[in-house]
Amino acid sequence: QSTLTSKSKDLYPDWKPGEPVPYAALCMTFSKIEMTTKRLEILAHCSLFLRQVLRLTPRDLLPTILLMINKLAADYSGIELGIGESLIMKAISESTGRSLAHIKAEQNEIGDLGLVAAKSRSKQPTMFKPKALTVSGVHKGLMTIATVEGQGAQGRKVDGIKKLLSAADAHNAGKAVDITQNKGGPSEAKYIVRTLEGKLRLGLAERTVLVALGQAMIFYEMSQKGKTPSTADLAKAESTLKSVYSELPSYEVIIPKMLEHGILNLPENCRLQPGIPLKPMLAKPTKSITEVLDRFEGKDFSCEYKYDGERAQIHFVPHDATQELATTAPSAGKSERGVANIFSRNSENLSKKYPDILAKVPTWVKEDTKSFVLDCETVAWDIVEKKVLPFQQLMTRKRKDVKVEDVKVKVCVFAFDILYLNGEALVNKSFRARRELLHSAFVPVEGEFAFAKYGNTNELEEIQTLLEESVKASCEGLMVKMLDGPESSYEPSKRSQNWLKVKKDYLSGVGDSLDLVVLGAYYGKGKRTSWYGAFLLACYNPATQNYETVCNIGTGFSEAILETLYDQLSEIQIARPKPFYMHSSGNKDQPDVWFEAKYVWEVKTADLTLSPRYKAAADEVAGGGKGVSLRFPRFIKERDDKKPDQASTSRMIAEMYQRQESVSKNKGPSVDDDF
Ligand code: ATP
Repeated sequence: QSTLTSKSKDLYPDWKPGEPVPYAALCMTFSKIEMTTKRLEILAHCSLFLRQVLRLTPRDLLPTILLMINKLAADYSGIELGIGESLIMKAISESTGRSLAHIKAEQNEIGDLGLVAAKSRSKQPTMFKPKALTVSGVHKGLMTIATVEGQGAQGRKVDGIKKLLSAADAHNAGKAVDITQNKGGPSEAKYIVRTLEGKLRLGLAERTVLVALGQAMIFYEMSQKGKTPSTADLAKAESTLKSVYSELPSYEVIIPKMLEHGILNLPENCRLQPGIPLKPMLAKPTKSITEVLDRFEGKDFSCEYKYDGERAQIHFVPHDATQELATTAPSAGKSERGVANIFSRNSENLSKKYPDILAKVPTWVKEDTKSFVLDCETVAWDIVEKKVLPFQQLMTRKRKDVKVEDVKVKVCVFAFDILYLNGEALVNKSFRARRELLHSAFVPVEGEFAFAKYGNTNELEEIQTLLEESVKASCEGLMVKMLDGPESSYEPSKRSQNWLKVKKDYLSGVGDSLDLVVLGAYYGKGKRTSWYGAFLLACYNPATQNYETVCNIGTGFSEAILETLYDQLSEIQIARPKPFYMHSSGNKDQPDVWFEAKYVWEVKTADLTLSPRYKAAADEVAGGGKGVSLRFPRFIKERDDKKPDQASTSRMIAEMYQRQESVSKNKGPSVDDDF
């Protein structure tokens, strides 16, 4: 707070009002953030920098924020960074005139490509001073790299990276700098490479940037009137921005509106908008029906079938409002009534996967239902037996460019919530009211569209019966949801206490399955020597942005799967672990090969234990440096709807461990784990 309110010196004095934000100024902020682990200091650095952007060059606020959160555009745009190590090494080599072998050797030694790039750049003799990089220029350059397609795309990506690297560190040109010490100013090359890798590793969470933006904006607005915001003003600005962002997670839309109308007027100008997916609400796992009854004691709740398919957010807007959809994918389903889009749990546009659903959307709606956003589960459907099929059937569908006439696995959409109807956002209404609206605005169509089955009951025996019936109907169990009051509102992006999942297999084992990232592998024995026979898995720690190892796994794989996994994983093999992989350093604990963090697998386990070999949640459980690890883990399936940073978090694993050990009865706060 004191850093924030003090009249600070400008961070980067060479930057004049109206000039593009220098990339060096952003890197300076990054390096300050990198040097601390204290959240409040990180927040203050961000906020001060954003205040300067607002004061000098507000038109660059959007690219600045995007680079700070390491994204090029909102998630639903599908534009992603995460360029493989080999392409980046090639570009470093070509742009600095050092041999590829040299770069590879250095990467092997240092293990941080960002530093390799910085070092290479600093050693390079420079004939003339390159034009300094700007934030908007870097954003544009990265956008080109991320979006090139077609023939020769790889080569053009390398060219794009070279262009950025050659212009990096203009301020250090010709000077001898010790880059590892950050002397001579932070290295732009380092941050460009880390951005390209998709990991800035500053310990800067996306949520912190959002809070910093709220603070900076209110400071800026009030300072224009000669005032300084109070703690209450800061809190109001933060909560306003957070709630607007959770309904409309698109800085592209929010930032221009905020600059135009002011931060406190955002709610009237920026609301949930069909066409822009919001982050779905998530549920907390529970171990038993009695735990549900304990948690919801004295409240009315509803037990809904938990369908085992794929989460789907269906958006629909009439034609006369489709200009709002300009930012969504062109693959949306069009009909006489309007345009439909379907988004995944990750806000990925699934319209090319489900053209059959999109074509049907207009047939489920009543005459006066004009625009809506539905929260649903798509489930494979047996048209002969007229029943739900197991999840594995759904997985056999192609993911892209599906033609309606080729669809073999039919799907039925089970709607369980409605978030927007006819121009009105419903997220703040009670769940009971939302469900009533859902049922009044839509018409079920057998095998195509249905409402999730439910029972509103607080009786243990009735809940038990519902659970058994749900399992008989090929569901995974129940979702238990609070019905009334503010607690039953829809909480986008939150893993909420007000939604509880009771899965059939919780009732025995340890609880929920885990979604873990594959970091390494061991060659197999006997018949399996030419493939990998076991794998090293990790969870994700959003606070540090590290992957923390949690187990080796060799069970649950068929020979055919192992063969496929070998082909898939050998493509992303890397020479050594990334600096953000946390694992025991013991020689015998090292896998034979390491991979880029890319694939997420669902895994079940018998129970959890502490082990010096793994690092999961080591900072959260008092295990004397030991991490939590899984005993007898078993592979269930690949989770291609999750990105590595959406894997199970260290916090979740710590909670599971603590629940199991009864170390703590503390229920803990809700976690915005998808933020
Ligand atoms: P999570 O989404 O909680 O991180 P996950 O993706 O592994 O975990 P599950 O643990 O199976 O999924 O449980 C939540 C998911 O259940 C939801 O994301 C949704 O896709 C699905 N689901 C099925 N039926 C319902 C329902 N009636 N209400 C809410 N979600 C449901």
